[in-house]
Amino acid sequence: RRPPSPARARPAADHDATADLCRVRVALRIRPKNTDELAQGADFDTCVELQPECKKLKLKKNNWASESYQFDEIFGENSSQKRIYEVVAKPVVESVLEGYNGTVMAYGQTGTGKTYTVGQLGKEDPSERGIMVRALEHILSSMSLETDSVAVSYLQLYLESVQDLLAPEKTNIPIVEDPKTGEVSLPGAAIVEIKDLEHVCQLLQIGETNRHAANTKMNTESSRSHAILIIHLQRSLKIKEETTVSIPSDTEHTLPGDLPLVLKSKLLIVDLAGSERIDKSGSEGHMIEEAKFINLSLSSLGKCINALAENSSHIPTRDSKLTRMLRDSFGGTARTSLVVTIGPSARHHSETSSTVLFGQRAMKVVNTIRLKEE
Ligand code: ADP
Repeated sequence: RRPPSPARARPAADHDATADLCRVRVALRIRPKNTDELAQGADFDTCVELQPECKKLKLKKNNWASESYQFDEIFGENSSQKRIYEVVAKPVVESVLEGYNGTVMAYGQTGTGKTYTVGQLGKEDPSERGIMVRALEHILSSMSLETDSVAVSYLQLYLESVQDLLAPEKTNIPIVEDPKTGEVSLPGAAIVEIKDLEHVCQLLQIGETNRHAANTKMNTESSRSHAILIIHLQRSLKIKEETTVSIPSDTEHTLPGDLPLVLKSKLLIVDLAGSERIDKSGSEGHMIEEAKFINLSLSSLGKCINALAENSSHIPTRDSKLTRMLRDSFGGTARTSLVVTIGPSARHHSETSSTVLFGQRAMKVVNTIRLKEE
């Protein structure tokens, strides 16, 4: 039973502002020079110039020409993890707390700072904590521990197989989509209820250790797999009958009258596999297999982004497990943020350029269903 279209709590906005609100937000982050790059001293050559004040990036095409690209935000090499969280992830988390699904993704070449941005645990220095820890900290501080619950699943997608990073014996976890609601679930994957921030850090550490162990066993690198943290949130709102609430129409809940109102939502935080073209490095054996699957999942994500950007009636989510997992949390009523990461060196011009273009395409995606409702 679908609820009637609820009254919206948000202020009315004009069309353009609403479209902007519903668009996938895309931020670009550049990593500081690494030791190798610093060692090049005056010989270091860069192909990018940031103009953070006007949110633009200039990418050198050759010695004479460069192209300018606009993003929602540009983060220079000194930008803090706190600021990244506040701009990239916080609006999505707030939306998830209201009952919408959401996704935060990091995309870029290996070594450009995806894991640092998303998965850094900040064990020694809490200011280094990445989006996963901060999102859970934010959620824990915003919910009532008596009536609400938050639980996580932590998964790795490698060679089109879903592995459980919290219960490593579980591999080949199926992805199931409810034909009626479109809700995606992973039967068999561990879902661990979170109590406090210390528990969060322990679980993420277990996930990181298992990811490392699994990859060593498979003789591969973590940059070859996607790491996906799913945060499941269930909130009980005690409402009076005359209260107006904002309810996402695709969220499972009981209607006013069946008090209390239960909102279920989820947030996916995704550390994508390196976007570099792997065939470049002279791959052989299992690496060719890896290249095939990474290219498949990232290119199918790209195709979905293109289809959403063009407002196409068919979004090809079935082409890969990555897009099947994202199906109910990307586009539609879900709020999405993408951070694309690049390095400063001109040596990686072609990878940097393809990352920038991927981000530019994602900026065109408007979450249409939400737009109609608002
Ligand atoms: P990726 O996940 O894209 O392969 P990593 O997150 O592992 O890249 O980053 C590569 C290295 O650069 C790591 O040692 C990481 O700590 C460092 N690094 C990346 N981004 C930053 C940053 N913004 N500030 C400081 N160090 C960074």
